[in-house]
Amino acid sequence: MATLVWDYLPEYESERADILDAVETVFSSGRLVLGRSVRGFEEEFAAYLGVRHCAGVDNGTNAVKLALQALGVGPGDEVITVSNTAAPTVLAIDAVGATPVFADVDAGTYLMDVSQVEALITPRTRCLLPVHLYGQCVDMAPLERLARTHGLVIVEDCAQAHGARHHGRTAGSMGHAAAFSFYPTKVLGAYGDGGAVVTGDDDTDRALRRLRYYGMEQTYYVVETPGHNSRLDEVQAEILRRKLTRLDDYLAGRRAVAARYAEALSGTDLVLPATAPGNEHAYYLYVVRHPRRDEIIESLRRHDIHLNISYPWPIHTMSGFAHLGRPRGSLPVTEALAGEIFSLPMYPSLPAGLQDKVIAALHAVL
Ligand SMILES: *Cc1c(COP(=O)(O)O)cnc(C)c1O
Repeated sequence: MATLVWDYLPEYESERADILDAVETVFSSGRLVLGRSVRGFEEEFAAYLGVRHCAGVDNGTNAVKLALQALGVGPGDEVITVSNTAAPTVLAIDAVGATPVFADVDAGTYLMDVSQVEALITPRTRCLLPVHLYGQCVDMAPLERLARTHGLVIVEDCAQAHGARHHGRTAGSMGHAAAFSFYPTKVLGAYGDGGAVVTGDDDTDRALRRLRYYGMEQTYYVVETPGHNSRLDEVQAEILRRKLTRLDDYLAGRRAVAARYAEALSGTDLVLPATAPGNEHAYYLYVVRHPRRDEIIESLRRHDIHLNISYPWPIHTMSGFAHLGRPRGSLPVTEALAGEIFSLPMYPSLPAGLQDKVIAALHAVL
């Protein structure tokens, strides 16, 4: 059997009765859209994170987009983020008509190099958008200082960081708003698409609820500011409620897989993930680095082990973002990483036998 970076079937096998019961709960509830399950999940996820509000939305891309719109970020505004991220981060900035501006990443953590951000601030800068990539948080204190000094808002992209902590604070509780994805591969994953925006601010939450519901207050049927149809599906919300009760177990499982890799691979010249001080890593991905990356991936493929690269093409080098005018060579750390990083299989239900097979194949090629 092929070994994949991610596979949900072992989890489904063990959770099947609960997942199917979630579906039955919604189908027999008499309300299929924005019902008890969405409301329940929103309250429970907000409580888990220690934030005031959570609004369920249809996916993580739109979570970033709605968070920006709810905070008033739009055409003419600049948003400082990174090029080493999933394309949706930048697509969401583009979708609201704002301009993404890229900081390079730190060579140790592969996260936003916050020391570069101040120099990128212009009179048009409105928002800082740190991405808590791979499962650990960006260094937030310098960004919070800059936001206060320059009157900027912070939107955290938490699509890869459910349950991560930074000096004790949860990912999602540090910005003016934070966007989550529940795409099936994520640390908290649905059985389909889903997302959420969390915020501590009452007005932002009210704006988010309107934006996801055509721009209407649910009871009024009148559009004041045009919005979208970006609701979290009721079935996915009920599944997420069930899975949220197991999130700490998933995190423990991921950390155990990471610890096993670290122990087995520490004697090799593979560069293993570095956790920054104060961070509790959620290990959405286990990203390693080696100059002979392509050869290693090919060698493992011959053992039927199929690895991923997150991400092989920095956003600013994509043809679809050529108009941003950041040429190749302008973000040297991001570009060097893209040629050398790759991800090892990582999910809480990863069978130990498969992980052993991956480790043995890596030892053979290194
Ligand atoms: C997955 C992801 C998104 C987008 O989420 P979708 O639910 O797939 O739309 C955004 N940002 C990052 C960093 C992601 O990993």
